[in-house]
Amino acid sequence: MAALDGLPPLRDVISRYGLDARKALGQNFLLDLNLTQKIARTAGSLEDVTVFEVGPGPGGLTRAILALGAKKVIAVERDSRCLPALAEVAEHYPGRLEVIEGDALKTDFEALAPEGPIKIIANLPYNVGTQLLVNWLLPRSWPPFWQSLTLLFQKEVGQRIVARADDNHYGRLGVLCGWRTQAHMAFDIPPQAFTPPPKVTSSVVHLVPRAEPLPCDPDKLEKVTQAAFGQRRKMLRQSVKSLGGEALLSKAGIDPARRAETLSVEEFVSLANQI
Ligand code: SAM
Repeated sequence: MAALDGLPPLRDVISRYGLDARKALGQNFLLDLNLTQKIARTAGSLEDVTVFEVGPGPGGLTRAILALGAKKVIAVERDSRCLPALAEVAEHYPGRLEVIEGDALKTDFEALAPEGPIKIIANLPYNVGTQLLVNWLLPRSWPPFWQSLTLLFQKEVGQRIVARADDNHYGRLGVLCGWRTQAHMAFDIPPQAFTPPPKVTSSVVHLVPRAEPLPCDPDKLEKVTQAAFGQRRKMLRQSVKSLGGEALLSKAGIDPARRAETLSVEEFVSLANQI
């Protein structure tokens, strides 16, 4: 049976083009177009929006984004085997899908960004997902070139992204995300929804940029969180010793007997600003 968008079912696409999943490329495909539409809908209205997608693979999420009315999708895919399948999707939606063959980690998304609103939506390869997120959080200027990020991660990574003080998952990633964005978990996706199923549950995380994050040098913030969470069980007087220890903490008005995971994002920012 043809899918709702008139294109062939993804299972047929995968067998016709021999797209057996490769572990090294983090390939866990979503074949249920209702589910890919649910993910795409998490990004809000796509009218007049250009979407950047990383790793379209056989095109399940890409098709959902296009069916929901995105003006254009610019997709970066590393696996050349997927290109003929994606060319079929491009033909079905003339002028609305541009596929770039390449490594997303080496792609300058900001330089590729056209005029108008941009959202990023991706079922990310797990081995590169966190690095891509960090790159998108540290663009040349703020507010960034994107209006929102709607991304799939392993649930444990998603928990670290949205974690705040006094949460076991709180760490460097949570501080960075909390400083520059408002992040929330949208919903979980069980392993069986993927082909092949990964070992763990996934989560869809949605992030929108804060219009005016507290002023801070990201390199200094990284230095502080690296030191503090590098020894997360120790008191801060010990863990940030190399950055100034008690003197630094007292300038920021922070009790040296506290531990990293009790500090709010705002407190980390004020500590970084004292370096
Ligand atoms: N979007 C498809 C879906 O939802 O079914 C596929 C998602 S699969 C988890 C990840 C995709 O990212 C694969 O198609 C893989 O080939 C691609 N990929 C892996 N590493 C990449 C990289 N460094 N740059 C761009 N694409 C990459």
